[in-house]
Amino acid sequence: LTQLYAPLNFLGFVYREIKHALADMERMFGLMAKDREVADAPDAIPLNTRQAEIRFESVDFSYEPNRQILFGVSFTIPAGKTLAVVGASGAGKSTLSRLLFRFYDVTGGAIKVNGTDIRQLTQDSLRQHIGIVPQDTVLFNDSIGYNIAYGNPNATQEQIVQAAKAARIHDFVSRLPDGYDTQVGERGLKLSGGEKQRVAIARTLLKNPPILILDEATSALDTHTEKAIQDELREISRDRTTLIIAHRLSTVADADEILVMDHGQVIEQGTHRQLLAQNGRYAQMWALQQAESPG
Ligand code: ADP
Ligand code: MG
Repeated sequence: LTQLYAPLNFLGFVYREIKHALADMERMFGLMAKDREVADAPDAIPLNTRQAEIRFESVDFSYEPNRQILFGVSFTIPAGKTLAVVGASGAGKSTLSRLLFRFYDVTGGAIKVNGTDIRQLTQDSLRQHIGIVPQDTVLFNDSIGYNIAYGNPNATQEQIVQAAKAARIHDFVSRLPDGYDTQVGERGLKLSGGEKQRVAIARTLLKNPPILILDEATSALDTHTEKAIQDELREISRDRTTLIIAHRLSTVADADEILVMDHGQVIEQGTHRQLLAQNGRYAQMWALQQAESPG
């Protein structure tokens, strides 16, 4: 019976894949469908690499005329390295990730992957190379297995379990009465913030992208869960080109480079040590957070 149903399930899966793909990305980025306005260039080429260097070159951006959001933002993330972005809410941090994912095109300057302007790449291939662990993971009204495999229709049950183990959600799933077939989402089992984030991590591990965008969890998680998730995020970012939007400075200290943004501009840039020595905004933010949560 299982054999009979398998192809049908697969077709349903592919259909749901397509239907959900854009909606999911939009929700992850907090965007509306109308915001999409990017098209492939007629001569766009596919990206195909495991080693991605990301370069922002004097990037300007505005969502709407007369309100510029980014002003000449430049940075390079060498292949396999981690760049953390910190700064006040509204500084333009999430906008960087939306531009890298090419939800919008820059209005000045360029974003390049391995030297190629992302406007010259097919959107599909670019997005295949990027995994996102968002701040707030949206689950579909489907099984937890589906939610983990999401974005990877060819994943085998074995691969799903392997990813779940690596994301430390397997034990939790195994204890559910229906295991990986347990329905989750609005109409199913409600997962906690930490559990949802682990589903997102498993999903990303299964996708195995060379580029990662992490929007760190905020205070919605308890300290214990947050610590565990930070460890997992650090683990999956190893050897991947990673852009972390960091809310807690404790997680950025070991990034290869830190960018401090303010009102759409990079105001400081360097390693944790360099920025502390500079005794500027970053050092100020660090002192503040240390005072709030000693140790
Ligand atoms: P951060 O992630 O640093 O908190 P964002 O990159 O989300 O900041 O936002 C930067 C600025 O861009 C904010 O002033 C925000 O209001 C504005 N903004 C974000 N999304 C849109 C949008 N879709 N349309 C117009 N303005 C936007
Ligand atoms: Mg943001």
